[in-house]
Amino acid sequence: MSRVSERLEELYVLGGGPGANRPYGSAAEDEAHARAAAWMRAAGLAVEVDRAGNLVGRTGRGDDVWVGSHLDSVPQGGRFDGALGVVAALEAVERVGAGAVAVFRGEEVGCVGSRALVASGGPLPRTFLELHIEQGPVLAERGVPLGVVTGIVGYARGELTFLGRPGHAGTTPMAGRADALVAAATEILRIRDAALAIEGAVATVGTLEVEPGGVNVVPGRVRLSVDVRAPDAERLDALIRAIGLEPELRVEPVPFRGEAREALLEALRERALEPVELPSGAGHDAGILAAAGVDAGMLFVRSLHGGVSHSPDELSSPEDVALAVDVLAAALARLARPL
Ligand SMILES: [Zn+2]
Repeated sequence: MSRVSERLEELYVLGGGPGANRPYGSAAEDEAHARAAAWMRAAGLAVEVDRAGNLVGRTGRGDDVWVGSHLDSVPQGGRFDGALGVVAALEAVERVGAGAVAVFRGEEVGCVGSRALVASGGPLPRTFLELHIEQGPVLAERGVPLGVVTGIVGYARGELTFLGRPGHAGTTPMAGRADALVAAATEILRIRDAALAIEGAVATVGTLEVEPGGVNVVPGRVRLSVDVRAPDAERLDALIRAIGLEPELRVEPVPFRGEAREALLEALRERALEPVELPSGAGHDAGILAAAGVDAGMLFVRSLHGGVSHSPDELSSPEDVALAVDVLAAALARLARPL
């Protein structure tokens, strides 16, 4: 078993089973941070803990380039989410002898640690690299082990309301009905088609409220929720326009455009791996740092089992993980420019 696999296993059992149980603020998250700090010291890194409890282990060379992820987990989570990014960062930084390993607190509850770092005014790294399990099926379907993330998708949420004329289900003829749910159903299909027409966009109607809500009453009023997501602001705008949504909440996409993304792509090309790029549908610490002006890049490793995550069934192969560590180390070596 590789050292990466051994360490993932060691972290996995900390909170007791089934699955990973290291929620933010738990004794198991603290214990995971203590293990990571011990591994950092064993690798000769100088360990710092900031006020939010984030851990940084510095080599003292090129250590404005940080590599890392998080060690908290959802309840009954998988082996790889977050933990892989930390364990792989330790390998890459030790191998290259430059850069720093960063471990953020509370990613699963809204990136508490990386947000606190940004809010504190830093100092922030110049560059941040995060290796993460994809948590989706895209790389497996493309038949490739690794992909470089183009950015964190943006999203918007709102509601649409449809008014009809309530009536008796038995005595109101079909002709001339104004059925609010039929109108909403037509709209739900249109929302799906609007998302299908925009590459990389998704739209979901997750809740419906039907009034008056009787089995024998023609619906008079329907409210539905809409959640739309897209990789960049242009596509998010286009989708919102196509649906006619007035968002109550909007979170802007965070593109990764700098040297970090390019260094990861270059490392794939050097190994004759297809330089596949894909957006991240989930938020990550790298997105928080990128939004604060850090040159951030993310490498996804293929998820097996159909991309299942936040579950003990989450899986990446040891071969894909080993390749991911190589690519991460190569990108770090390119970015850290040790003197
Ligand atoms: Zn994660």
